[in-house]
Amino acid sequence: MNLILLGPPGAGKGTQAVRIVEKYNIPHISTGDIFRENIKKGTELGKKAQEYMNKGELVPDDLVVEIACSRLLEEDCKEGFLLDGFPRTVYQAEKLDEFLAAHGRKVEHVLDIAVEKEELITRLTGRLVCRACGASYHKVNMPPKTEGVCDTCGGELYQRADDTKETVENRIEVYEAQTKPLVDFYEKAGVIAHIDGATGLDNVFADIVKVLG
Ligand code: AMP
Repeated sequence: MNLILLGPPGAGKGTQAVRIVEKYNIPHISTGDIFRENIKKGTELGKKAQEYMNKGELVPDDLVVEIACSRLLEEDCKEGFLLDGFPRTVYQAEKLDEFLAAHGRKVEHVLDIAVEKEELITRLTGRLVCRACGASYHKVNMPPKTEGVCDTCGGELYQRADDTKETVENRIEVYEAQTKPLVDFYEKAGVIAHIDGATGLDNVFADIVKVLG
């Protein structure tokens, strides 16, 4: 099961990813998470990525392709994977296809989750993320039981550096200009399914399961 989650920032890709990987038992590969881990550890990769991320811009293609493809070579990806936040440009998608073809594999499903722009801004500027387990909350719409503490694991909740209003608006523009063309790309490949991301967490997941079986 080789899957891709597509959709603008704030569409709920990360939240749905948690449920998908649990049900289908495949690894969740988020290039954004890989970069954030590297920033936390202070690696060279983290330093390079951070200048782009803080502005809401894309990290250069070749760097991301290398990171994603080397992750896909790991043992746990043999039976399938869920890519979240990669590919984000047509170039990245072409490189991914080449990489998979070289290993006798291909992309099987692309789940394109759509949400209106105003809703995306509300979701992202109010988002809180758990430092320990990555679970997402919302300051107003889905607050944790205890302020600043994750309901699930007790970890500390924080606001992502790129979830400020200005950066969020830029990230959405970058999505429209550079990532949205992937809808056509995967439409042509006949692998895309369109999911309404505004129907509530459970309904969105049910729609995904209908597609994946
Ligand atoms: P995300 O966690 O998916 O929202 O990604 C956060 C940030 O990491 C993005 O705004 C980009 O700066 C960077 N990033 C993550 N994945 C990619 C990618 N596939 N291509 C370029 N930049 C990426």
